[in-house]
Amino acid sequence: MIKFLDLHKINERFRAEINQRLKNILDCGWYLQGKENDTFCQNFAKYCGTKYALGVANGLDAINLIIKGYGFGAGDEIIVPANTFIATILAVSENGCTPVLVEPDINTYCIDPDLIEEKITSKTKAIIVVHLYGQAVQMEKIWNLAKKYNLKVIEDAAQAHGAYYQNRRTGNLGDAAAFSFYPGKNLGAMGDAGGITTNDPELYEKVKAIANYGSDYKYHHIYKGTNSRLDEFQAAILDVKLKYLDDDNARRREIAKYYRENIKNPKITLPQVYDENAHVWHVFVVRCDNRESLQKHLETNGIQTNIHYPTAPHRQGAYKELESMNLPITEKIHNEVLSLPISPVMTCEEIKKIVEVINKYV
Ligand SMILES: *Cc1c(COP(=O)(O)O)cnc(C)c1O
Repeated sequence: MIKFLDLHKINERFRAEINQRLKNILDCGWYLQGKENDTFCQNFAKYCGTKYALGVANGLDAINLIIKGYGFGAGDEIIVPANTFIATILAVSENGCTPVLVEPDINTYCIDPDLIEEKITSKTKAIIVVHLYGQAVQMEKIWNLAKKYNLKVIEDAAQAHGAYYQNRRTGNLGDAAAFSFYPGKNLGAMGDAGGITTNDPELYEKVKAIANYGSDYKYHHIYKGTNSRLDEFQAAILDVKLKYLDDDNARRREIAKYYRENIKNPKITLPQVYDENAHVWHVFVVRCDNRESLQKHLETNGIQTNIHYPTAPHRQGAYKELESMNLPITEKIHNEVLSLPISPVMTCEEIKKIVEVINKYV
């Protein structure tokens, strides 16, 4: 069986280094907001090209804290892609803001920049872009709109660690960015973890305080904060893995290239790529009219697949208030997408087999 994602194999490569770093923490006995956190945050900020990085508990918190940091709440509208993992939208509604859903571009699967302006009102405060599946949103038009209407641009970069737009990395494409280091992400911890990057010193200080009980220094609370911190173990693991992220992303790129050049089946729509060197392929998503039968065919032939995602957020029970929205492109995508295995530890034999099996699908 070819697994969709072999996390054990991915992490096994770093066993010795991680062992050493975790041993150091045990020896020193400091578990939160210590050296490992500082080191990782410095290295991650440098990697993204931003002035600041803050470790937080998970990706959802990262988005949530940015919204809190800007002080958006009840009565404010935030533009979000209709086609995303539900976390993006949850962070908006959790703060009492209204999520304003915008259809994706059928080619990029990311928010369609041409459909945003008509949704902007006097209540709009921000645009959240999601670099879905590992490809950065084409930002130019988003920047122009943000400038024209004085909006914040918030990146949900949970699927795109290391991806580029032009010569800038994700995390450095807006006013602030949220990352998830959930184990299956391109840069994954061994538990829950997340991060925020920004060049804005005010926002950085504010989210840092909010994430630590609203405290700017010990037992001094200036915000009604929360507890969302990155622990030393996860920070150490992430700092080890960060060194290999570019190599891992390069391997993902090779596999994606092989798929794109060799999958030749008229029933399969391959993903469109805007910059071959910039995409980090968190997942390799194809479309097929009869997705379930393709998935079955692959499974019968020993290949595990996944669906990102089977049900659109506005069709979820949690968002009954959005149920009546007419979002045909989003729904078409949710009905047709299938994610093939892609990871830096896959063998050439596995990749070849997947292509052969797909090409035999009728
Ligand atoms: C994974 C993910 C999140 C949430 O991250 P968690 O660490 O699981 O909270 C948010 N947005 C997107 C697009 C994601 O893929």
